[in-house]
Amino acid sequence: MALFVQKFGGTSVGSVERIKAVADRVSATVAEGHQVVVVVSAMSGRTSELLALSEAITAEPDADAQDIVLSTGEQVTVGLLVMALRALGCSAAGVCGWQIPIQTDDSFGKARILHIDQEAIFERLQKHKVLVVAGFQGVTESQQITTLGRGGSDTSAVALAAALRADECQIFTDVDGVYTTDPRVVPEARRLEQITFEEMLEMASLGSKVLQIRSVEFAGKFRVPLRVLSSFEPGPGTLITLEATAPNFTEENFVNVETPVENNRMEQPLISGIAFTKDEAKIVVRGVPDQPGIAHKILGPVGEANIEVDMIVQNIGADQTTDFTFTVARQDFERAVALLETVVQKVGAEAVMGDDKIAKVSLVGVGMRSHAGIASRMFELLAEENINIQLISTSEIKISVVIDVKYLELAVRTLHAGFQLDAQQAL
Ligand code: ADP
Ligand code: ASP
Ligand code: MG
Repeated sequence: MALFVQKFGGTSVGSVERIKAVADRVSATVAEGHQVVVVVSAMSGRTSELLALSEAITAEPDADAQDIVLSTGEQVTVGLLVMALRALGCSAAGVCGWQIPIQTDDSFGKARILHIDQEAIFERLQKHKVLVVAGFQGVTESQQITTLGRGGSDTSAVALAAALRADECQIFTDVDGVYTTDPRVVPEARRLEQITFEEMLEMASLGSKVLQIRSVEFAGKFRVPLRVLSSFEPGPGTLITLEATAPNFTEENFVNVETPVENNRMEQPLISGIAFTKDEAKIVVRGVPDQPGIAHKILGPVGEANIEVDMIVQNIGADQTTDFTFTVARQDFERAVALLETVVQKVGAEAVMGDDKIAKVSLVGVGMRSHAGIASRMFELLAEENINIQLISTSEIKISVVIDVKYLELAVRTLHAGFQLDAQQAL
C-alpha cells in the first residue's frame, strides 16, 4: 500500500462533471489499495472573482481580511468532492487548512507554511479512505486565516506530501506534464519525461506557472517525489527528479547498465525548456553621476519599499555619468517610478524612464553547464528575426533576455525551433 498526495487544480475541478471525474480517479487509486490525501484548488476563475469582489469594496484591501475571502473558494471544492466521493461509496472526509492545522507565518497573501500536524492527518486517514484538504490556505498561530499566494495549492500538496512522507506527490492539471515551453504558446512543445528540480525551479521562477515556485523549492528540500500529470487523460506525466537521474536518462542511453550515471549522460539535452514572462517592467535612471555608492543610493530606497529587483545593468560612463537599468515586477512598476522621481533629484541624475511593455525569455538547462556557445546561438537566432535584446542575464543553467513584449511569441517559437526542442530526440 502506498500513500499518495493528489492535487487537482482549478480547471480540473472547474465544473460538477469535472469534480465527479476527479472522484472517479481518486476512488480508482483507493480501489488499487492505496491511501490518498487529496488537495483541491478553487473551481477555475473563482479565486480571481473573489479577488475582484474584495477590490470592489476598496482599492487596497487589508491582506488579512482579503485572505478570509480568498480562502473560501477552496472550501467549496472540498465539500463538493467529499459528496462526489461518498456518492461512489468511497469513505471521505474534508478539512480546511485551519482544522488540521496547516500552520503558517502571518504574511497574509503570501504566507509560508511552518508546520503541519501529521498525526491529525493520519488519525483522520484511519477513519476514512480519503482525506480531502483545502489547498492554498493555512492559519497563523493566533488563529487567523492565511493564503499562500496564487497557485499556492501546489505548495500545500507538496508540503503535505513532505510532512506525511508520501510515496509521491501527484499534481493533476490541464496539461499532461511539464513541456519544453508553454504548449498554449508553442503547439509543437514536447512533454518532458523528466526534468531536474533545479531546472524546474528555474522554469517556475522565470515564468512557467505550471508549478508554483515554492512547491518546487519544498520538493527539492524535502526530496518529495513530484509528478505533473493530466487530470483529463491517463499517462505517465513528467517526473521532477534529483539531478543524478537527469533528463534523457533512458535505458537506450546505457552503454553498460553497470557504468556510473555520470558517464552515460552524453545524450543530455543542452536546453530543457524555455520560460517566459510578461510580469516585469524596466526602469532606467539616466545620467547618474558615476561615483561609488550610487547603486546603493538608487536601489536602497527601492528595497526599503519592499520592491524586489530582478535584472540590473549599469553601463560604463563615458562622460562621468552612467545609465542604471533594472527590472521590477509589473505590479510594483508605478510605485517604483514614483519613488525614484525623488531619488533622481537627490543623487543629481538626469531622469527616470520606465517601460512596462517588455517580456523576459529564458533558456533553461543543466546541460548548459558544460557547453559554451548557447548564449551566442540564442542571440544569433533572435537577430535573424530582427528582435532587439534590451537586457541579458545569465547563471549556470539559464540565460534570460529582455525584449519588446510584441516579439514575445515570435522569440519563443524561434528559439524553440532553433534549439530543436520539438524534435523527438532533443539535441
Ligand atoms: P492548475 O489550475 O491545475 O494549477 P495552472 O494553470 O496553474 O493549472 O498550470 C497549468 C498551465 O501551465 C498549463 O495550462 C500551461 O498553459 C501552463 N504552462 C506554462 N508553462 C508550461 C510548461 N513548460 N509546461 C506545461 N505547462 C505550462
Ligand atoms: N485557487 C488559488 C489560485 O487560483 C490557488 C491555486 O489554484 O493553486 O491561485
Ligand atoms: Mg496552478
